[in-house]
Amino acid sequence: MSLDEQRALVALACRVAAARRLVDGILGHLSLRVDDERLLIRCRSDTDTGVAFTRPADIRLIRFDGSAGAAGELDGYRVPNELPIHAETLLANPEYRAVAHLHPPAVVAADLTGITIRPIYGAYDIPGAWLARGGVPVYERAVLIRNSRLGKEMVAAMRGRPVVILRGHGITSAAASVQQAVLQAISVDALARMALTIVSADGALRDIADRDWDDLPDLGSGFTEAAWRHEVARVQPPGDDAERVAR
Ligand SMILES: [Zn+2]
Repeated sequence: MSLDEQRALVALACRVAAARRLVDGILGHLSLRVDDERLLIRCRSDTDTGVAFTRPADIRLIRFDGSAGAAGELDGYRVPNELPIHAETLLANPEYRAVAHLHPPAVVAADLTGITIRPIYGAYDIPGAWLARGGVPVYERAVLIRNSRLGKEMVAAMRGRPVVILRGHGITSAAASVQQAVLQAISVDALARMALTIVSADGALRDIADRDWDDLPDLGSGFTEAAWRHEVARVQPPGDDAERVAR
């Protein structure tokens, strides 16, 4: 994939996250590792109109220390204050290529309610169920993660898991692809919403039965690709289809 195609993918993923209400307004950002020294990250500019309207040009190539990754990359753009979230997560695990830092209100609310993300359902969302079974830890500080010390503290709180809840703040989701990082975030948001609904109805949160895990199979890459196609369709008007029908 060319650098510009990767910029377009990260921008699209920002719009997908916003469409799923995982971010609101201007806060939250995604990144993609390009090589050992550089990453693409959603930057800010004086014409920024929010995460939901992220353009490929908003995705800039930088070094892990926040300096420009090539000539002109930061002309008119600023790296987010919370770059250390991305830098420390990617530097800590070579298998991670993408990081989504988002502020999903339902996940923040569930954590503040005292809810721990657990596998309360199964086939409703199999990838989400497995993610919950492995654990979604919490970084208990509500601070702006604006230096490498705090970034490392957050990474330690992840305890090797792909998603961490940042108390009173949001989440960090890390994966081998941008698509996976966002799909994981969508799954954690769905788990949090369901848990809040159950608690609001005076229900109790219970893990699914142990014997059910054998019949909750990995649905494979085709399922992941279909899930992503759906997310993309939600943010892009079906113009191509309309044209085809018109012809
Ligand atoms: Zn944040």
